[in-house]
Amino acid sequence: MRRFGACEKRWEELVSEEDCMFCKIVRGEMESEVVHDEEEVLAFEDISGKAPVHVLVVPKEHASSLTEVGKLSNAVTKRLFEVAQTVAEKMDIAESGYVFRINNGPDAGQEVFHLHAHVMGGERLGMP
Ligand code: AMP
Ligand code: ZN
Repeated sequence: MRRFGACEKRWEELVSEEDCMFCKIVRGEMESEVVHDEEEVLAFEDISGKAPVHVLVVPKEHASSLTEVGKLSNAVTKRLFEVAQTVAEKMDIAESGYVFRINNGPDAGQEVFHLHAHVMGGERLGMP
Protein backbone atom coordinates (compact mmCIF):
# COMPACT_ATOMS: atom_id res chain seq x y z
CA MET A 1 0.00 0.00 0.00
CA ARG A 2 1.26 3.49 -0.82
CA ARG A 3 2.35 5.56 2.15
CA PHE A 4 2.22 9.32 2.35
CA GLY A 5 4.99 11.42 3.86
CA ALA A 6 4.35 13.85 6.67
CA CYS A 7 3.85 16.85 4.41
CA GLU A 8 1.61 14.97 1.97
CA LYS A 9 -0.66 13.63 4.69
CA ARG A 10 -2.88 16.68 4.90
CA TRP A 11 -3.59 17.06 1.23
CA GLU A 12 -7.09 18.29 1.93
CA GLU A 13 -5.34 21.53 2.85
CA LEU A 14 -6.39 23.79 5.60
CA VAL A 15 -7.68 26.64 3.47
CA SER A 16 -9.99 28.78 5.55
CA GLU A 17 -13.40 29.64 4.18
CA GLU A 18 -12.24 33.24 4.29
CA ASP A 19 -9.44 32.54 1.80
CA CYS A 20 -11.12 29.81 -0.24
CA MET A 21 -11.51 30.90 -3.88
CA PHE A 22 -14.82 29.16 -4.47
CA CYS A 23 -16.23 30.50 -1.17
CA LYS A 24 -15.31 33.95 -2.48
CA ILE A 25 -17.21 33.22 -5.70
CA VAL A 26 -20.18 32.00 -3.66
CA ARG A 27 -20.10 35.20 -1.57
CA GLY A 28 -19.87 37.31 -4.74
CA GLU A 29 -16.41 38.62 -3.78
CA MET A 30 -14.85 37.15 -6.93
CA GLU A 31 -16.23 37.28 -10.45
CA SER A 32 -17.60 34.22 -12.20
CA GLU A 33 -19.87 33.39 -15.11
CA VAL A 34 -22.82 31.94 -13.25
CA VAL A 35 -24.75 29.25 -15.10
CA HIS A 36 -27.12 28.24 -12.28
CA ASP A 37 -27.74 29.71 -8.85
CA GLU A 38 -29.98 28.28 -6.15
CA GLU A 39 -30.14 28.27 -2.38
CA GLU A 40 -27.40 25.77 -1.63
CA VAL A 41 -25.68 25.03 -4.92
CA LEU A 42 -23.93 27.25 -7.49
CA ALA A 43 -22.70 26.42 -11.01
CA PHE A 44 -20.28 28.62 -12.93
CA GLU A 45 -18.02 28.43 -15.97
CA ASP A 46 -14.55 26.97 -15.43
CA ILE A 47 -12.06 29.80 -15.92
CA SER A 48 -9.90 27.73 -18.26
CA GLY A 49 -12.36 25.39 -19.91
CA LYS A 50 -10.94 22.09 -21.13
CA ALA A 51 -13.98 21.26 -23.28
CA PRO A 52 -16.47 23.34 -25.31
CA VAL A 53 -18.72 23.22 -22.23
CA HIS A 54 -16.94 23.17 -18.87
CA VAL A 55 -18.92 24.17 -15.83
CA LEU A 56 -18.18 23.66 -12.13
CA VAL A 57 -20.95 22.73 -9.70
CA VAL A 58 -20.25 23.55 -6.05
CA PRO A 59 -22.07 23.36 -2.74
CA LYS A 60 -22.31 26.84 -1.23
CA GLU A 61 -21.23 25.39 2.10
CA HIS A 62 -17.49 24.83 2.25
CA ALA A 63 -16.23 21.25 2.17
CA SER A 64 -12.63 20.74 1.03
CA SER A 65 -13.18 17.61 -1.04
CA LEU A 66 -15.01 14.30 -1.08
CA THR A 67 -13.09 13.57 2.11
CA GLU A 68 -15.44 16.02 3.81
CA VAL A 69 -18.61 15.18 1.90
CA GLY A 70 -20.15 14.00 5.18
CA LYS A 71 -20.37 17.65 6.25
CA LEU A 72 -22.99 18.25 3.59
CA SER A 73 -26.60 17.26 4.00
CA ASN A 74 -27.93 14.38 1.94
CA ALA A 75 -30.18 16.86 0.15
CA VAL A 76 -27.27 19.10 -0.92
CA THR A 77 -25.20 16.12 -2.02
CA LYS A 78 -28.07 14.92 -4.18
CA ARG A 79 -28.59 18.44 -5.54
CA LEU A 80 -25.00 18.46 -6.88
CA PHE A 81 -25.98 15.61 -9.18
CA GLU A 82 -29.32 17.14 -10.11
CA VAL A 83 -27.80 20.55 -10.83
CA ALA A 84 -25.20 18.88 -13.06
CA GLN A 85 -28.06 17.51 -15.17
CA THR A 86 -29.84 20.90 -15.12
CA VAL A 87 -26.62 22.58 -16.30
CA ALA A 88 -26.20 19.99 -19.05
CA GLU A 89 -29.75 20.69 -20.25
CA LYS A 90 -29.18 24.46 -20.11
CA MET A 91 -25.92 24.15 -22.05
CA ASP A 92 -27.52 21.75 -24.55
CA ILE A 93 -25.23 18.78 -23.90
CA ALA A 94 -27.67 16.57 -22.02
CA GLU A 95 -28.51 14.50 -25.10
CA SER A 96 -25.01 14.30 -26.58
CA GLY A 97 -23.67 13.33 -23.17
CA TYR A 98 -21.24 14.77 -20.69
CA VAL A 99 -18.60 13.95 -18.13
CA PHE A 100 -19.40 14.45 -14.44
CA ARG A 101 -16.12 14.39 -12.62
CA ILE A 102 -14.73 15.10 -9.16
CA ASN A 103 -10.97 15.24 -8.68
CA ASN A 104 -10.08 14.16 -5.18
CA GLY A 105 -6.57 14.56 -3.84
CA PRO A 106 -3.06 14.65 -5.33
CA ASP A 107 -3.20 11.74 -7.78
CA ALA A 108 -6.39 13.18 -9.27
CA GLY A 109 -4.72 16.59 -9.57
CA GLN A 110 -7.15 18.44 -7.31
CA GLU A 111 -6.15 22.11 -7.34
CA VAL A 112 -8.98 23.89 -5.57
CA PHE A 113 -9.90 22.61 -2.13
CA HIS A 114 -13.58 23.43 -2.17
CA LEU A 115 -15.55 20.40 -3.33
CA HIS A 116 -16.63 20.84 -6.94
CA ALA A 117 -17.87 18.68 -9.77
CA HIS A 118 -16.81 19.31 -13.36
CA VAL A 119 -19.53 19.09 -16.01
CA MET A 120 -17.81 18.79 -19.39
CA GLY A 121 -19.15 18.12 -22.84
CA GLY A 122 -19.71 19.41 -26.34
CA GLU A 123 -17.22 17.02 -27.90
CA ARG A 124 -16.20 13.39 -27.50
CA LEU A 125 -14.37 13.04 -24.19
CA GLY A 126 -12.74 9.91 -22.86
CA MET A 127 -11.03 8.81 -19.71
CA PRO A 128 -9.28 9.97 -17.67
P1 AMP B 1 -9.58 20.58 -9.81
O1 AMP B 1 -9.33 21.12 -8.42
O2 AMP B 1 -8.40 19.86 -10.40
O3 AMP B 1 -10.78 19.70 -9.89
O4 AMP B 1 -9.82 21.79 -10.80
C1 AMP B 1 -10.04 23.10 -10.40
C2 AMP B 1 -10.67 23.81 -11.57
O5 AMP B 1 -11.04 25.10 -11.14
C3 AMP B 1 -9.75 23.96 -12.79
O6 AMP B 1 -10.40 23.37 -13.92
C4 AMP B 1 -9.60 25.47 -12.93
O7 AMP B 1 -9.55 25.90 -14.28
C5 AMP B 1 -10.84 25.98 -12.22
N1 AMP B 1 -10.72 27.33 -11.63
C6 AMP B 1 -9.70 27.80 -10.88
N2 AMP B 1 -9.96 29.07 -10.49
C7 AMP B 1 -11.18 29.40 -10.99
C8 AMP B 1 -12.00 30.56 -10.95
N3 AMP B 1 -11.64 31.64 -10.28
N4 AMP B 1 -13.19 30.53 -11.59
C9 AMP B 1 -13.57 29.43 -12.27
N5 AMP B 1 -12.84 28.30 -12.36
C10 AMP B 1 -11.65 28.28 -11.73
ZN1 ZN C 1 -14.75 27.09 0.10
